[in-house]
Parts: sequence; C-alpha cells; structure tokens
Amino acid sequence: MIKFLDVRAINVRFEEAFNGKLKQVLDSGSFIMGSALEQFEKEYAQYCGTSYCVGTGNGLDALTLILKAYIKMGKLKEGDEVLVPGFTFVATIMSVIQANLKPVFVDVNPYTYNISVDDLKKKISPETRVIIPVHLYGQLAAMNTINQIAKTNNLLVVEDAAQAHGAHDRYGIKAGNLADAAAFSFYPAKNLGALGDGGAITTNDDHLNSVVRELRNYGSSEKYRNNLFGMNSRLDELQASFLSVKLAELDNDNHHRSELAQRYLKGIKNDKITIPLINNLGDHAFHTFVIQCEQRDQLQQYLLNNGIQTVIHYPIPPHKQRALKVYRNEHLPVTDKLCDTVLSLPISPVLSYEDVENVITAINNF
Ligand SMILES: *Cc1c(COP(=O)(O)O)cnc(C)c1O
Repeated sequence: MIKFLDVRAINVRFEEAFNGKLKQVLDSGSFIMGSALEQFEKEYAQYCGTSYCVGTGNGLDALTLILKAYIKMGKLKEGDEVLVPGFTFVATIMSVIQANLKPVFVDVNPYTYNISVDDLKKKISPETRVIIPVHLYGQLAAMNTINQIAKTNNLLVVEDAAQAHGAHDRYGIKAGNLADAAAFSFYPAKNLGALGDGGAITTNDDHLNSVVRELRNYGSSEKYRNNLFGMNSRLDELQASFLSVKLAELDNDNHHRSELAQRYLKGIKNDKITIPLINNLGDHAFHTFVIQCEQRDQLQQYLLNNGIQTVIHYPIPPHKQRALKVYRNEHLPVTDKLCDTVLSLPISPVLSYEDVENVITAINNF
C-alpha cells in the first residue's frame, strides 16, 4: 500500500533528537511560555524573514488572533467585511466569524486553485477591510496583484500560510512575509508539523506583535494583569522544541516534495486528467499535489484497488457545510466544480521516487 501521508515515517527520522528535547524540557521544569518557545519564535521569524513570530495553540487561533488584534488596535470593527476564497479549509472562514467579522466569499482560479483576482475585484464593497488569501496546497496566491489591490482600496492583507511553510516568490521572499501578517499551522500533516497542535503568527508590525502576544495569553503580558480580553492559545515548550528540530530539515523536505511533484507533472499523461498549473516551482511548497478528473470517484477507487491511497481536499466547500448554512446560496461555480473533481496524490518528504512512478503508471492506465 502506498500511503497518502505517512506521518509516522516522517517523524521517526527525528526520534533521537526528539528524545533529547524531551529530556531537556523535562529537566527544565518549564512547560509553557519558556525558553524553547522563545528560541523557536526567533528561528521561525528568521526563517520567514520577518521581524516577529508569535507561537499559538493552532492555525485557526493564529488567524483569529490576528483579526481580533486588528479590532483592538482600532484598524477593524466588528461586522467589517473580509474577502476569503470560497475554496479552502473551513478554518479560514471560521476565524473570520470567530472575530465577529463578515466573510465575503470569492471564487478561485480553476487551474491554480487560489483566490481569483477578477472575482476579488468584483466583491470589494465600501465595507471591505481585509483580504485573506490562502496559499492553497502550498502555492502562493497572486500576492503582487493582491497587495496592489489592497493598497488602492486601503485594505489589510493577512496570509493564510497554513499549507505553505517555505514557499517563496521569485525574489526569495517567503510565505509569512508577503503581507501585513500571516498565520501558520503546525498540525502534524503540514509541511512543518508538530507532534500535536501548534500554530504561529508572523509579521513585521511592532504593534500587532505586542497585541497578539498579549491576546494569546489571556490578554496579559504581566502575570495576573489582564489588559485585554484575550484567549488561551500558546505553543507549548515540547512542541516548540520539536518544531526547532524539524525546521532545520524543512528546506530539504520541501525540495524532495518538489522533485516528486516534477515527476508527476512530467509523467502524468492521460486525457481524463488535468494537472495543476504551477506558476513557478519556487512559489510552491507542494503541501499537496492535486489533479482534477471528471470521473474522480472512479479514479480514486481504481487507485485504491491498485494499492494507492488518495485524499479529497475538499469534498464539501465551506459555504455548503451545515455549520455555515447561512452562506449556502453563495454563487461559487469554480469552487463547487473543484469539490467534485479534485484528487490529492501521495506526496511527502519520505515518499520514494519508485512509489511516485507506480502512482504515475496507475494513473496513466486509468
Ligand atoms: C490546517 C489549516 C488551517 C488551520 O490549522 P489548525 O492548526 O488545524 O487550526 C487553516 N487554514 C488552512 C488553509 C489549513 O490548511
């Protein structure tokens, strides 16, 4: 069986280093808000090229904290409109609603899967204050154009970089450093994954940095003094130290993902399959490699019969989820179509070239 993603195999590579970190944290007796977090925040900010990194409990909270901080800072007010792609993981939308802001759904480009710049322009209203582009599947959204539109319309831009650790534009500027602020997730399946939940915010904004730092810790920067009404969303010492270990391998891991993706791009030759449009290899962290097929469900079953696991990201769009049923009448034809046709192929830092060749052969025989 070729697994879709072998998170065990990804992590056992670091077993010895993880054990060392466990002992260090255990000996330190400090499990939350200690030196391992400080160290990781420094390393990840440096990696992204930003002035600041703030660890959080998960990716959803990272997004929510940024939006709530902008409200505290007076840059947003409750009810303001936030442009979000219709085709994304539901967390993007939930963060907006949790911050008491209003999501406005924008359709996506059918080839890059990222937020459609044309539809984005149409959805700007006098109430619009923020754009949240998602670097879906690891490919950067059209940040130059999006930042230009934001500047013209005086909007904030917050990257949802949960799938794009290490993706960078052609000048080498990384995801996390391409807008006013960015949110990352360290959920185990992400390109940089913890052994549990984790997340981070990156930014170059001094004020935002200090406000999210307080907000993640009960609105407090000094024990038992609460300046703001905050949350409890901290990245713990164990996860922070495991992430420091894995960060050192992130570029190598992403490089391997890219090599596998290039094999898929060259090798897949089947009229029934549409391969994704890759703007620029460096732009892409290849979190997932997603093809389209009109007979997607038959293809998925066929691959499974041939010992190949695949996953659908995502079978139901956020606006069609029961939890978000007030948005069910949104008109997002590309998003709806993609949910019926996309299929994510196996890709990971531990997947072999041989396995990828076997997947390609099976797809071409379908
Ligand atoms: C994973 C993910 C999130 C949320 O991350 P969690 O750590 O699971 O809260 C947000 N947005 C996108 C696009 C994601 O893929």
